[in-house]
Amino acid sequence: MKCPNCHHTSSRVVDSRHTDELSAIRRRRECEECGFRFTTFERMELSPLVVVKKDGNREVFSREKLMDGLLRACEKRPIPYETLEKTAAQIELDLRNLNKSEVSSNDIGEHVMKALITLDQVAYVRFASVYKEFKDIDQLMETLKHLAKGSDDNELQ
Ligand SMILES: [Zn+2]
Repeated sequence: MKCPNCHHTSSRVVDSRHTDELSAIRRRRECEECGFRFTTFERMELSPLVVVKKDGNREVFSREKLMDGLLRACEKRPIPYETLEKTAAQIELDLRNLNKSEVSSNDIGEHVMKALITLDQVAYVRFASVYKEFKDIDQLMETLKHLAKGSDDNELQ
């Protein structure tokens, strides 16, 4: 990467993140010679994102599996398929932007819950009850209370 200012050939990467298209990466670079900062867009092969499951086993992240989970949580809810696809894409993007080679299934669960809470509260509770494996009804009610407090409408209060 040549510096546009002094044409020096080595630069330091200051920041690096995926663009909305997952196969492109945007890098902020700083010239090692003159300190000039510039941005590059680079195409890249996507490396597989590895998911560490609760039992310690690892598997390659799958967008389809994520979609399955979202579909199950949103079954019979008025949410367009397209919205769920966008949500799944955004979650994958966020996970990749953590810039870790491995993410835990916990990380994924948290991201899904964050997305669902703004999308549909019923879907959120459904997903959370499976994901968090509520031990008893008190725990579930506690979560619902937090949910009601955090939302603008009072549907659940
Ligand atoms: Zn330079």
